Amino acid sequence: MLAQTRTALIHGLEPVLVEVEVKIMPGLPRFILIGLAGKALEEAKERVTAALAACRVRVRSRRTIVNLAPADIRKQSSAVELAIAVAVLKLYGEVPADTGGTMFFGELSLDGAIKPIRGALPLVMAARRLGMAEVILPTANADELRLVSQVNIRLVNHLSELIDHYQRRRPLKLLKNAPPPPAEVEQTSPDMASIIGQATAKRGLEIAAAGGHHLLMVGPPGAGKTMLAQALPGILPPLTPAEQLDVTTVHSVAGTNRGRLVGHRPLRSPHHSISRTGLLGGGGQLKPGEISLAHRGVLFLDELAEFPRHLLESLRQPLEEGSIRHIRAAGAAVFPAQFSLVAAANPCPCGYLDDPQRPCRCTPTQLERYAGTFSGPLLDRIDVVLRVSAVPTEQLADQLTFRSDQSRQSPDSRQSGNRLPTGTAERSPTIRRRVTAARQRQQQRYALAATGTNPTGTGNQPHANLDCQDWSNATVPSELLRQCCRLDAGAHHQLKYIAAKQSLTARGYIRAIRVSQTICDLAGESAISGDHILEAFQYRWDWGSGNQQYHPNSQDQRVPAKPV
Ligand SMILES: [Zn+2]
Repeated sequence: MLAQTRTALIHGLEPVLVEVEVKIMPGLPRFILIGLAGKALEEAKERVTAALAACRVRVRSRRTIVNLAPADIRKQSSAVELAIAVAVLKLYGEVPADTGGTMFFGELSLDGAIKPIRGALPLVMAARRLGMAEVILPTANADELRLVSQVNIRLVNHLSELIDHYQRRRPLKLLKNAPPPPAEVEQTSPDMASIIGQATAKRGLEIAAAGGHHLLMVGPPGAGKTMLAQALPGILPPLTPAEQLDVTTVHSVAGTNRGRLVGHRPLRSPHHSISRTGLLGGGGQLKPGEISLAHRGVLFLDELAEFPRHLLESLRQPLEEGSIRHIRAAGAAVFPAQFSLVAAANPCPCGYLDDPQRPCRCTPTQLERYAGTFSGPLLDRIDVVLRVSAVPTEQLADQLTFRSDQSRQSPDSRQSGNRLPTGTAERSPTIRRRVTAARQRQQQRYALAATGTNPTGTGNQPHANLDCQDWSNATVPSELLRQCCRLDAGAHHQLKYIAAKQSLTARGYIRAIRVSQTICDLAGESAISGDHILEAFQYRWDWGSGNQQYHPNSQDQRVPAKPV
């Protein structure tokens, strides 16, 4: 006699269909699991027999063989245990023979309870692709599946509930697809209005968000670089339902979403002591790393100079391609990694170079060595550099006094979630609306140009694996950028003047256009003006030099405006 059920497991982000076969054979009584079961599944037989016993189903003292096919893929996930248990129940006649259109996922505990699994979302999506009519999985995974349609999802808490369902005593609850809560409710970023001062840095942050530019903040300790970085996800456009599924898939595989749908842009801030596998992903079990967990969100590298050089250089490929490929003995896997990079650094090892209040204690050798850490391919991809200085004490004191006055006068303002006074400062939702409008302008412009002029696709251009819908001013291929951007006469003159004055390289020229175009999109104008060019040059690193070396005194460089 043979009983079969279906389940699946995740390899990288790709699901693999697994057929479970259970058979009783003559021979010494044993429960045998075959089919390349990995370490995580070694104890599955004990858990399955204990869970069945908890439901008063005694595994007969016969030779019971469980086979997991295909046999050439190592099975590391305990999520296949429910399918094994159901196959045994089928063999004993507790469950009807026809479960062909159903997939089962769940890890069993000894008392028969069914525990949540990792990767529920990609597994259910796979079941849908394979034409399954129904999926049965743990209730704890329900939230992350709210946006999945075209497949019946039934939720189970205990193995006995599943037996009751199949014996028609009490049907299992169906998951009703519900619209997700508005992303802004889930957003946990600090509000831009709660950041005191820093008007220039906030403007730079808005430009970076609007154009999808990577960002570096240089400033002394305590200047508020971390808070600015944390505020960035709150001004990026909200995730669309398709993007929410995309982001949740990665977090579901990593097990970081605790069964919930990820409705907001993630912010990941790994410490500089992180391992290569931790940052990039991979490892024996092919798990996503921090760069993939930051997919469609923000990767914040604080204390950039402390990160090992080789680690920063390994970011080059994912920054270019928007994904990372891992090749292991077990096979290859590709994880998405389209993130906004935000890096922060002190201007010198002691942190107080050019500080009006405190003297810098660094030696020239230290400064030179520090400058060396800021070169290389990473800086090559950072379009916006902000110099963040500490907010003067008087301004801080003024604002905080104002807060206590406000909180006395208006109790409502304390409940609004924005504890600091807004004054004239804009709140994140207002900035986000401008950023979203600017992004839409870019997407429409580039999608139109790409389909109108190059219908066969963009071949070997950079970011060829990104959909043209994802193109922003930072990522659009330079040919298309040149084709789409309009400069008015003033912009032409201004750019020519600066280019000659600063011996701008071709790459520097393109980067100036990219940032200027974003400023133009934020202003809702149709052509880049001289003012846009001038503002863009405030956020330059050292576009002219070509070697992207950090010069400690670069703060003294001023943008030469063309004399009128
Ligand atoms: Zn110093």
